[in-house]
Amino acid sequence: MIESDVPRSRFQGSLVGLAIGDALGMPFEGLRASTIREKLGRVPDFLDAPWRMLKAGQWTDDTKMMIYQARSIIESGGVDAHDTARKFVEWLQSNDWRGIGRATYASLKRLQAGTDPDESGEEGEMAAGNGVAMRIAPVALVGCMSLDKLREDVRSVGLITHNNSEAIAGGRAVAFAVAGGARGDLEPASLISEAIEFIGPSLVAERLAQASRFLDSGMEAGEATARLGTGGYVVETVASAFFCFLNTPGDFEASVSQAVAGGLDADTTAAVVGAISGAYNGLDAIPERWRRQVENYGGIIKLADGIFELAF
Ligand SMILES: [Mg+2]
Repeated sequence: MIESDVPRSRFQGSLVGLAIGDALGMPFEGLRASTIREKLGRVPDFLDAPWRMLKAGQWTDDTKMMIYQARSIIESGGVDAHDTARKFVEWLQSNDWRGIGRATYASLKRLQAGTDPDESGEEGEMAAGNGVAMRIAPVALVGCMSLDKLREDVRSVGLITHNNSEAIAGGRAVAFAVAGGARGDLEPASLISEAIEFIGPSLVAERLAQASRFLDSGMEAGEATARLGTGGYVVETVASAFFCFLNTPGDFEASVSQAVAGGLDADTTAAVVGAISGAYNGLDAIPERWRRQVENYGGIIKLADGIFELAF
């Protein structure tokens, strides 16, 4: 495959899609799906969230970390865990955290105190959060042509914050989907079985298989995300995100809206869906009203372009 076969818009769509999903979910983080349904009926466009001191179109820690990851890749000329760790500490020091995750905060504090990036990550059962899955898109884009290297790259940057096999498996599943979307050869019908093969035996793989059965049975998105889970546990996030993407693979707006409506860690589930659907469908498939209003649109496009140049 040569460069001209791979449209730049897939790279742009993935990073912009991630930011838009994050910003759409931002006002709903922590709410139950039933509360969102009762209060709003349907999921609206961007909303102000004064209690978070964030305005409509602004995103949270998911996009912050994606941006620092992307900058590191561009400045280093590839994926470099030590440089990524330095960039994450820069973010910590900026104090603009926007809802930093618990495992991530503890790990970055250790890095700041001098711990090595391969030893800084949070360990144990409580480290199975979605903090790797949510920020992995730039790693997937730059490595989309070499899946063996991508598998290792996800681990090396994932370990900075999450020394947990499920957190890494979830990051790998999302990276696999984003990479396929970016290359242009993602097949919705076989995505889950291929992703399971890529990540290997894990709870993430088991829940993805459940998502696949729900899709085959034609289950409605609200019921499927309720049963798969939409909390910060990576097993839930990845399964619900794959369901929302694959339920309406050609419709970015429908997929991210289903993820937001699932509530709880709504910003992260929707960010993951946005990264996958944006890569698969390209930038033009993202509604223009969202592209116009999302925070730092131009800066995110530049990062996607920088990664596109590096990938070939
Ligand atoms: Mg967030």
